[in-house]
Amino acid sequence: MKFAKRTESLPPYLFAEIDKKKQAAAERGVDIISFGIGDPDQPTFPHIVEAMNKAIHDTSTHNYPPYQGTKEFRQATVKWFENRFGQKFDAEKECLSLIGSKEAIHNMIFATIDQGDTALLPDPAYPVYKSSTILCGGVPYITPLTEKNNWLPDLTKIPTDIAQKANIIMVGYPNNPTGAIAPIEFYNELIAFAKKYDIIVLSDNAYSEIGFDGYNAPSIFEAKGAKDIALEFHSLSKTYNMTGWRVGFAVGNERIIKALSTVKTNIDSGVFKAIQKAAVAAFETPKDIVEKNNNIIKERRDVAVKGLRELGWEIKEPIKATFYLWLPIPPNFKTSSEFASAMLDKCGIVVPPGNGYGEYGEGYFRIALTVDKKRIEEGIARMKKEGLTFKAQACTV
Ligand SMILES: *Cc1c(COP(=O)(O)O)cnc(C)c1O
Repeated sequence: MKFAKRTESLPPYLFAEIDKKKQAAAERGVDIISFGIGDPDQPTFPHIVEAMNKAIHDTSTHNYPPYQGTKEFRQATVKWFENRFGQKFDAEKECLSLIGSKEAIHNMIFATIDQGDTALLPDPAYPVYKSSTILCGGVPYITPLTEKNNWLPDLTKIPTDIAQKANIIMVGYPNNPTGAIAPIEFYNELIAFAKKYDIIVLSDNAYSEIGFDGYNAPSIFEAKGAKDIALEFHSLSKTYNMTGWRVGFAVGNERIIKALSTVKTNIDSGVFKAIQKAAVAAFETPKDIVEKNNNIIKERRDVAVKGLRELGWEIKEPIKATFYLWLPIPPNFKTSSEFASAMLDKCGIVVPPGNGYGEYGEGYFRIALTVDKKRIEEGIARMKKEGLTFKAQACTV
């Protein structure tokens, strides 16, 4: 058998590897606590399931959907977007349905990156940005996210010659894996930078609705002139506990939308119309239902932060958005993989090692708050018992 070089140039997908290790431990009879993949454990909201139930019996949903999304879906999308962010989009030309944002991120990179082209990518980051760039033969130029910069790329550090040849810059806030948020000032600066060098801005806003303590994440389109040069990916996966349904949308500049649409129409055939009807119901979800869901995550955050602080982790400010905690590994471990292995072997806890998100993720690990409070407490207790604490002396406290 002969495979394409591009396939062999890719590392296995992070969570595919983690799943294997988890499986092996489970087979040994270990009671696993998984702080691994960011997949909500709560069910999809009942009114969405109901809408789907009704839609599936409507036989007009059974044939191929329109490529760009049904008119009803796109109109509901732009209406939701305007209510939420105060920005208007043309449902015909500036909006697309997506089979989840993951495929669209890949297809957008495919639409913008030729062999040898430069993509400005964050690190640590959602692994798809870099793998897709590599699959397309592109050259990633890393804009490191560091604690010192509040996990925002420092645009002033990008060399002029790199900026001049870059086709795209990718950002994603509220951020996976760091839980960081971006202020509107950052987006203003980013759009000015992108316009200066004519770089397409791709914003991955999968966590826009997962906010706490009154925090509402902005869209990049709240920045001045963003529509001239940007596209934003949104997903229903995290907001409405719909990861398995595969539905999201993109809004943005007409030409960028068109490029994405050109690639997509040649590759996929759209989102099942019944799911689009369910998505319309999702857009109409009363605010308090989303809030209640976010409160569950917030309570877990508070339990985890309290416990981890007791174990010696210094957490200045609990996250305001996403369901991720991004923490340094204890100083007595050399690598994040070593720490992740110890967590699994000693405590039966799955945590993704930071280096799975890029080289700047080395020295960190991520906790996904997608298990209930009791299990978080149990996890913390196991860590304490096994001495997997940030500072050794914390055990005795
Ligand atoms: C979950 C996630 C996505 C993908 O979500 P879909 O289910 O494909 O819509 C995209 N970006 C980030 C940062 C994510 O965490």
